[in-house]
Amino acid sequence: MENLSRRTFLQKVGLGVGATAALTIPAFENLANANAHFYGGKKLNIALCGLGRYATYLAEGIAVSQYCRVAGIVTGTPAKAVEWKKMYSIPDANIYNYQNFDQIAKNKDIDLVYVVLPNAMHKEFTIRAAKAGKHVIVEKPMAITAEDCQEMIAVCAKAGVQLAVGYRLHFEPYNLEMKRLGQEKVFGQIRLVEASLGYKSSDPTQWRHKKALSGGGPLMNLGVYCVQCCRYILGEEPVSVTAQFGPVTNQQLFSEIEESITWQLQFPSGALTTSTSTYNCGVDRVFAGADDGFFELSPAISYGPFRGRTSKGELNFPEINQQATQCDEIAKVLLENKKLPSHITGEEGLKDMKVLQAVYKAAETGKRVSLS
Ligand code: NAD
Repeated sequence: MENLSRRTFLQKVGLGVGATAALTIPAFENLANANAHFYGGKKLNIALCGLGRYATYLAEGIAVSQYCRVAGIVTGTPAKAVEWKKMYSIPDANIYNYQNFDQIAKNKDIDLVYVVLPNAMHKEFTIRAAKAGKHVIVEKPMAITAEDCQEMIAVCAKAGVQLAVGYRLHFEPYNLEMKRLGQEKVFGQIRLVEASLGYKSSDPTQWRHKKALSGGGPLMNLGVYCVQCCRYILGEEPVSVTAQFGPVTNQQLFSEIEESITWQLQFPSGALTTSTSTYNCGVDRVFAGADDGFFELSPAISYGPFRGRTSKGELNFPEINQQATQCDEIAKVLLENKKLPSHITGEEGLKDMKVLQAVYKAAETGKRVSLS
């Protein structure tokens, strides 16, 4: 962090300059202050596993969190170990590579492993961390198949450790408001949700373009957020899905994965949701149309700053450091030896993965796929 100017740092973590006072969202603020000394100064010691782009954001968030510490790292790149050791004052004893990682079992200074590797590696490192007796946060998508998710959940349960998926939007005020407006039916019965996320991706060497590492294209990477949004706005589980692959405009870039995909989920209440995830253009929006009005966000899912409105007016919430808030809220639960809320656990990741697999099946077969 020392290498970053304050402005660059705040921009990277999605905060405007001058917004540092709003690092915790109001709903959690009082609890956070009340608990400031509650854990006897004990923090949740996190080892980040995989030191790529998102791990950098996480580490910067953890560095400004109240209840967490970047206590260890797992990396396959010795130069990164040197750099991170200096940046976060990490002792040599807490630095692992992918081969000696299992020795973390003997390390009392690590409470939790945060897996931030390519999607196909999530299963292996979650299971190894659990067998080493460490709690796990695994990034989205939880894995690349529902069977893998099931295995991860089972191993964590057997090892007596808790498993969370890095669903940062469950701690983000604008998205929490979307969830409240939808689930409390503030604008009446919801009839339609549109949730889409996309960006232009042009590097064929990126692991996200290799199916063996990513498990799929923009659906796995970005569509998982859209499925999440639809599920938490409606508070229901989808019963069936239809889907269509988009056109391939660049055969070389998209030889292994889809370039774009659009899908529709049908819910028990009769609500319909429609989503597109794409690597061919920027899109980041969520809209819910209900009997008595609408509510929407755009940007909605990215790192912010978010903008939102309802049929009654603008939404206005503080911009938060999403990574710091997510890690603090998880830390508070784990430091009190309580159970993580179900909407961020492995079971939730599994539910999303089942939907993603059904979306692919529907697009491949051209048929409606049942989810019940
Ligand atoms: P990245 O490419 O920047 O980093 C991947 C890391 O994995 C690198 O440190 C790389 O060295 C390491 N690695 C180990 N084995 C590898 C291999 N065989 N091929 C490629 N890399 C290998 O990726 P990222 O953007 O940090 O994404 C990592 C995970 O975090 C993904 O699961 C992604 O979906 C998730 N993510 C989540 C968010 C979020 O907002 N929650 C944002 C970005 C990424």
